[in-house]
Amino acid sequence: MIALRRPSLAKQLAGDRIAAVGRRGKYPVIELASGRKLVVSLRMTGRLIVQRQTDALYPYTNVFIDFTDGTRLAFADVRRFGRMRLVQKEEMWDSELGIEPLSREFDIPRFAAILKGRPTAIKAFLLDQRRIAGVGNIYAAEALWVSQIKPATPAGKLSRERVGRLHAALQAVLLKAIEMRGTSSRDYVDAEGMEGGFQNELTVYGRAGEPCPRCKKPLVRTVLAQRGTWWCRNCQR
Ligand SMILES: [Zn+2]
Repeated sequence: MIALRRPSLAKQLAGDRIAAVGRRGKYPVIELASGRKLVVSLRMTGRLIVQRQTDALYPYTNVFIDFTDGTRLAFADVRRFGRMRLVQKEEMWDSELGIEPLSREFDIPRFAAILKGRPTAIKAFLLDQRRIAGVGNIYAAEALWVSQIKPATPAGKLSRERVGRLHAALQAVLLKAIEMRGTSSRDYVDAEGMEGGFQNELTVYGRAGEPCPRCKKPLVRTVLAQRGTWWCRNCQR
């Protein structure tokens, strides 16, 4: 790792190597051989792109890192809300983030315990990154439709049977989205510059007025905790 357009970061990163690339919640995490981490917040329009240093710089690149093998990691962001943060070796950076929904620890009893007594609408609860990390608006809407749960239902009021259904739906939706390389409902592309495919699998998100694929009644869009919420009034209860 040799150069970076932002000089303060460049000095700190010079000579380090990438050991692994992972994710925590919505944040890609680049683990360095030194034990430090580069944590990336993509926000609305941020992208990480791997390219050759001889290629034209990716449009709207704010930061790039050049490697000794001739590759370049570009962090591009049209709206510039994205962030890249260098986390020191022992630094706790994710204590505000909740459980990973695809982890082994996230089983049905654990999910039920997290929901217990919470008056928050289940849709807003799913988006709260301090409870469960990594579920966004699209995937929350889809999982609630699959499990036939009304988005405004208080989280703590779900029966054990419905908690089990939602747990299965959440994991299925997330795994399918990962398999399809994400959702390019606006302009998301992955590190290879490829669009995701999950936008073609969406059953409710962005489909107000279209027939519910299950019961054929028109889907609706309402606003819940300031977020657009797509659902079926007929078969989500
Ligand atoms: Zn329906």
